[in-house]
Amino acid sequence: MIILKIGGSILTNKDSAESEVDDASLKRIASEIRASLDNSDKELIIVHGAGSFGHPPAKEYKIGEEFDESEYPEKRIGFCKTQNAVKKLNMLICESFIDEGLPVVAIPASSFMTATDKRITEGNLDYFKKYLNKGFIPVVYGDVVLDTKLEICVISGDQLIQYLAINLNADTVILGTDVDGVYNKNPKTHDDAIFFERFSSLEDLDTLEGTTNVDVTGGMVGKIKELLYLADLGIESKIINAETKNNIFKVLENKEVKGTIISRGN
Ligand code: ADP
Repeated sequence: MIILKIGGSILTNKDSAESEVDDASLKRIASEIRASLDNSDKELIIVHGAGSFGHPPAKEYKIGEEFDESEYPEKRIGFCKTQNAVKKLNMLICESFIDEGLPVVAIPASSFMTATDKRITEGNLDYFKKYLNKGFIPVVYGDVVLDTKLEICVISGDQLIQYLAINLNADTVILGTDVDGVYNKNPKTHDDAIFFERFSSLEDLDTLEGTTNVDVTGGMVGKIKELLYLADLGIESKIINAETKNNIFKVLENKEVKGTIISRGN
């Protein structure tokens, strides 16, 4: 089974307050996935980020921070706005993927997962297995969920990958983002950033600057933390640039693609 995450940074314009999808990018990625599925049957789960849709309301309403009981009505509305925003993004993504012939079915985290202090603690994955068995591609995405400690919180697409990979025994975990992989510092703001082909410790980073955009879930550092946790359990993952044409196709075909492998060994 392959878990493929497509970062919100490629699907939307995360720097913008506007909620717009990048149609051309979506269509290209869908056709690359389709071409690979045409070559051979694969069990595939797609995870996508919240991009410019989910992060602004989550930030505005400080979802995931502790609050007083009196603030609950407003927080609840913030939860609803965030949930609705990511649902809209998911709908646009699924529409584009279905147009390309991909049998995608959305399974929103807010409808079946619970967290405790921002970590997923409950989520019955039987439906994933059932849909996979019938040849569907389940799609799950960064979302808001109920939290037994904080009442509500945001769950990143990156945390979802980790949970799914462990609980569904994924063979391959791939993250497509808008840079070639992990560098010692943010390559978008540092021309001298050094690229890692393999990455095994947060200590190898010069700075813990997460991202340059509106991400509330930690950007690259948040991603790496989730993936190192997976690596501790023996599951390797690979971060690649999904903006580079054919990278998604090639990686699904097990062909060589520039990227960073996150693993604990060297
Ligand atoms: P996505 O939305 O695709 O999941 P994010 O925006 O959350 O991606 O994270 C990717 C961004 O992280 C990159 O565009 C880059 O600007 C930033 N970044 C920060 N530090 C690093 C680093 N050390 N290596 C690579 N990218 C980094």
